[in-house]
Amino acid sequence: MKRTLLALMAALAFSLQPAAASDLREAVAKDYDYLFSLYKHLHTHPELSFKEVETAKRIGDELEMLGFDVTRGFGGTGLVAVMRNEEGPTLLVRADMDALPVAEQTGLAYASTVKSVEQTGQTVSVMHACGHDVHMSVLVGTARRMEALRESWSGTLILIGQPAEERGAGARQMLDAGLFEKFPRPDYNLALHVSPTLEAGKMGFVSGYGFANVDSVDIYVKGIGGHGAYPHMTKDPVVLGSQIVLALQTLMSREISPLEAGVVTVGAFQAGAKHNVISDGAHLQLTVRTYSDETRAHLLQGIKRIVEGQALSFGMPETHMPEVKIKETYTPSLYNHPDLTARMKVAIAGEIGDGNVVDVSPVMGGEDFARYGRQAPKIPSLMMRLGAVDPVVVKVAQDGGAALPSLHSSRFAPLPELTLKTGVASMTAAAMDILGKDE
Ligand SMILES: [Zn+2]
Ligand SMILES: [Zn+2]
Repeated sequence: MKRTLLALMAALAFSLQPAAASDLREAVAKDYDYLFSLYKHLHTHPELSFKEVETAKRIGDELEMLGFDVTRGFGGTGLVAVMRNEEGPTLLVRADMDALPVAEQTGLAYASTVKSVEQTGQTVSVMHACGHDVHMSVLVGTARRMEALRESWSGTLILIGQPAEERGAGARQMLDAGLFEKFPRPDYNLALHVSPTLEAGKMGFVSGYGFANVDSVDIYVKGIGGHGAYPHMTKDPVVLGSQIVLALQTLMSREISPLEAGVVTVGAFQAGAKHNVISDGAHLQLTVRTYSDETRAHLLQGIKRIVEGQALSFGMPETHMPEVKIKETYTPSLYNHPDLTARMKVAIAGEIGDGNVVDVSPVMGGEDFARYGRQAPKIPSLMMRLGAVDPVVVKVAQDGGAALPSLHSSRFAPLPELTLKTGVASMTAAAMDILGKDE
């Protein structure tokens, strides 16, 4: 009995071990100093959305040096690098390049002190608080490996540096500029995003929907203002607005299957200026998150219906019906193709070990990488979640210690070595699985 248990434990321990040091992981380890200095450079020189000029130049130069055919300034500050290597499938790998208006407080020796002028004209501190510097370093690291392995694969490898992910605009601009017309149309799209909760050394996967449809809705409630002491002579937009906020809560809870995901959040409610004045209007700002297109349509229709219904029951005259404005461009949900997900899990486990390939939960955040897969006919796509946190820090947080900083936090600090090595080994293994020659 005891011996069986020991054998079982030994087998379990073995299965959690990474595969024996592979040629790829050795090559990645040898390249680490180069990648770390690139990473530090990118981290200390962050640029805001659509201002990724120096960043794109550096990444473009790195890829050009490797023999990629580089097109710059594509769709704004975007970058497209193509390596054609005989006949075979076309694979697109995307990294995003922009940083955020956040003042870094990580205390790292290579922390950013950069300041820049925002769209609004305000001067702000800038930081790679969403890990896009990791994504770019992994892209370059993967390019270096794929160049070295050139004899062992065939097909076309397209690497893109995408601007303005944080504004949900960069992917759209690159597609509108003709990404899939001017360059070969991909058979597969791959990307990764750092995870602020997953240990470095691990790669996380979601099969199916991983990120949400993101819609912004504005509701302009009209009122008939007047004196706060004479409410019967007015139509109070604060009361109507409040009823709308509460009625909206029934959309997800009473109209959509409990097994279907969705969120309707009223993030802002602005009205009035003084204690005793009933105002002429109220403005509500909503974010609506869904996975399926059907649920999205139902919620957006439902918001219009509820707003109108509440105004009618409030006795609002037809001349004062509220206005609902749904922002035309939205970020579509990200669907990780199940077959591609399953295939990449196996390929990556072969490099980083079964125990380091983990399933993670889908989230209701948005990611515009989704757009590359949505272009009809749809292209199988996958975005992986790259573990980026010091395992010791994760353990402390799990034991009730300091909470982990989220993405966009001024204290978000990926653990560079294990994160970059795992990212490059995984992305290269994935690319080789798709493009590798059968021998
Ligand atoms: Zn972000
Ligand atoms: Zn991001």
